Parts: sequence; structure tokens; C-alpha cells
Amino acid sequence: MSFRFLRPDSQSAWKHPEVKKRFSRYRDIIDDNRIARYLIAKTLECDFEQHNSIEILEEKLKEQSVSFKALLDKSEQELKSRKIKDKNYITLSATLARKYLEQCIFCERRCEVNRIDGEKGYCLIPESSYITSAFLHHGEESVLVPSGTIFFQGCNFGCVFCQNYDISQAWKGKRDISEIAKEADPQDLADTAERLSNKGALNINYVGGDPIPNLHTIIASLEYQKINICQLWNSNFFLSEEGLSLIIDFIDFWLPDFKYGNNECAKNYSEIENYYDILTRNLKRIHEEGSAEIIIRHLVMPNHIECCSKPILDFIAEQVPKCVVNIMGQYRPEYHAYKFDEINRRPSTEEMREVKEYASKLGIVWEPVS
Ligand code: SF4
Repeated sequence: MSFRFLRPDSQSAWKHPEVKKRFSRYRDIIDDNRIARYLIAKTLECDFEQHNSIEILEEKLKEQSVSFKALLDKSEQELKSRKIKDKNYITLSATLARKYLEQCIFCERRCEVNRIDGEKGYCLIPESSYITSAFLHHGEESVLVPSGTIFFQGCNFGCVFCQNYDISQAWKGKRDISEIAKEADPQDLADTAERLSNKGALNINYVGGDPIPNLHTIIASLEYQKINICQLWNSNFFLSEEGLSLIIDFIDFWLPDFKYGNNECAKNYSEIENYYDILTRNLKRIHEEGSAEIIIRHLVMPNHIECCSKPILDFIAEQVPKCVVNIMGQYRPEYHAYKFDEINRRPSTEEMREVKEYASKLGIVWEPVS
């Protein structure tokens, strides 16, 4: 059966004027009227050496980002006529990512372990990346399906209610990652992206677990990818500033989670420090410096309307108003959630109604993707 019958909203959502307006560049890439950002980045020549220090490479990355933004103003015809350079913005970013891997700071846990030398941080992901599955996903938000979804094993969070606990954390300390997932190098990842694109994917959707510990592999795979397809980052979004700088110009569409409206709830349920500060910082960056084509996923948790849902919606309305929000009612007490009475049930109909009404009152666009 065609996915259009399975998901009629994948067509009807585009009739919504705000969806059309806010996701216009994404739509144009799908229709092949515009070029994906990573392909434009490949045309930017960059002068650097493998042995350059982190500080020098970071400086060059900043310069390339400025040049990249200037390129975005050029006509599509001009951009199409540009040639791919051997040493370009992507190769620079991939080189810097490898350097960071020697003292990993991809996420704000900042473990500073040398993953190339076999050390492991909180996420327990080694130097290589491991994929659990890759397929055309028909269950994502209306405007994203069918989505070419690539699931990575492992996560940098420790959520007690995780619904993907088998790939995110339940294996930790019990089994080696190589026993449960398939190692994928950058070429493998690029081949997977091409296969998904040929099957009809509208985007390449990096998810997990979480994709953050695999930044180096994902960026390096962009060197091998050639297809004009949207790159989509689907993540808990606990990226460090350095990690986000590596990809901010290459990602066309952002799909960040925003679970907690304060630092304390994040500490209680996900073993995370400074969650709210970091999430809001990163969201402001992609809204101001990145593509600004964003769907924020907010998972409504029982008994967390006042402390989490409402502050999150207030922040979105005030600080990142171009974002569309998926208000998710899928929470269920999985994994270790039964140990916490207050979250050991599904959100009630009344709680879901209250959150949606609050979002509407703030003028947030949520209905076409929720
Ligand atoms: S990705 Fe995050 S959790 Fe994993 S080793 Fe790096 S800093 Fe630590």
C-alpha cells in the first residue's frame, strides 16, 4: 500500500500556510529546486593541514561558516555551476571532529576520553559507529515521511523512562556493542543513505539512541554522499558548542527533543546537568545561525505540565518562534519509570488538552505535525 494512503497527512500538512512558509527551503530541496546545504559546503575550498592544531582548525571552521552563509544568498543556478573541491568545508569539519575524538567533547558531558585509543565515556561508544537498523520510516512527523531513518546504537543520556532502552542503554555493562549492532564506517553510512534515497526517502534522518556520539562518522560520510537530499538531525540535542559548530551549516532540518523545562527534572530522570541551559542555548543557535527549519518534539510527561511543558512552550514562543512543535502524547512508563510514582502512568487526556490549549494560546504552530 502506498504510504500516501497510510499517511494522508503527509500531503495535507503542506496545505497549511505556516508549514509551507516555515519549511520552504526543505520543500524546495525535496522538489529538487534547491540544493542541500552539505552539497553547497563541498564547493567551498579550504586550506588546512591534517597536523594543524585544534585551535587553528576551529578558527578556519569559523571563517568557512561565514563564507558558507554568504554563498546561501547566491542563485541556485550559480550554486549548481560550482565545482566540488578536494579540500572543502566538510573535509575540514571531519578533520576537526577526528581531533575532538581524541578527547571527546561531542556532547556537554565532555568526558574528554580518547576514543581513538580505546577509552570510553558515558555513552560507551568506541571510535567506530554502530547501526541497529536503517529503513524508510512512515511514523515520523507528517512533513518528514517517508523518512530515511538510520538508528545508531547507544546514547549519551540515561533516561529512566526510555522507550528505546534496548538500543540506548540496557546493553551497557552487559554486552559488547559489536554483538548487538553492525559497525558502519563513513562509506557504509553514505551507501545506506543512497539506498534509502533511491527507495524514496525525503530526508536522511540520523537518530538512535542518539547520533551525537557518531558525529565524526556522520560528517565523514557526507564526503561520500552525492545525492541532493535533506540532512536531518534527530537528537536529544545535548551537543556541546563545538559539536554543534561542526554540523550547524550542513543540516537542512532539525528535529530536537525538548523534554524538561528546568535543570532539576532532567537531573532526576536523565542523569543530566544543566539540561535546560544547554538546550535553550543550542535551540537559539539553530534558530538564528542554522537553517531555522525545526520541529521541536515535546514529550508530555504526567505531573510535569507546570514545571516542564509550560516553561518549554513559553521559551519557544518568546525565543525561537519560527519552530513548529510536535506535542507528543506517547509517553508511557517504560524501563525504570515504575520506580518513580509521579511518572508511572501515561499523561491524562486532561493534561494533553491543557498543554495543547496553552500552546495555541501562545500562537505556537503544532497541529499539522502532532
Ligand atoms: S559523546 Fe558525549 S557521552 Fe559520549 S564520550 Fe563523547 S562527551 Fe562522553
